Amino acid sequence: MEHRRIRRRVLFGTGAAGLLGAAGVTALGAGASAAAVEPDIDGVAQWGARPPSGTNPVINGSPNKLIVHHTVSANTSDFSRAQAHAHAKWVQNLHMDGNGWRDSGYNFVVSRGGWITEGTTGSLAALMNGGRFIMGIHTSNQNGQALGISNEGSYHDGAIPPAAQWETLVTLCAFACEQYGIPSQEIYGHMDFNSTLCPGIFHERLPQLRDEVEAARER
Ligand SMILES: [Zn+2]
Repeated sequence: MEHRRIRRRVLFGTGAAGLLGAAGVTALGAGASAAAVEPDIDGVAQWGARPPSGTNPVINGSPNKLIVHHTVSANTSDFSRAQAHAHAKWVQNLHMDGNGWRDSGYNFVVSRGGWITEGTTGSLAALMNGGRFIMGIHTSNQNGQALGISNEGSYHDGAIPPAAQWETLVTLCAFACEQYGIPSQEIYGHMDFNSTLCPGIFHERLPQLRDEVEAARER
């Protein structure tokens, strides 16, 4: 069977999140034999990242798991692409200036409006290539073997992610699992490895996330 990937625009950021999301999924199911949808990801040049302050290590080989985070930013109701870019800059500044890290520590970030931004510089090219990834800075003792995917917002005290964010997270995780040959069950939350409240409610929803990622891969 041909595994043909179809590039489609992730439409969730336009405001009618749930409706467009459902429409997109339906359209895909009807027309494609894709193993996983290739999501649109805005690279560092597209959102205007600063250059890293040091070398981001390239790890030859695939990560063996995905680790989900949240960024503990405000739960904005601005679902625009511009907000996703502003948030990506906020994260990078926090990590480089606040934490003294070489770059944004997450490999990818999903905005509340469903836009994906590259985090650690080089992560997007590595993902598209497969077989290598960039060492992020997101989970102690796991950065050399796990891809870090974070979500805009704070989800440790009752807030739930917007539908657009959730659907895009599923799409991104499915694509990353496909590119790297990672089983859908190998998706974890930050608190599985470190003492932290991260990723909040995403952690409670990991079984659902794994199931939906698996379904997206079989579609
Ligand atoms: Zn985290």
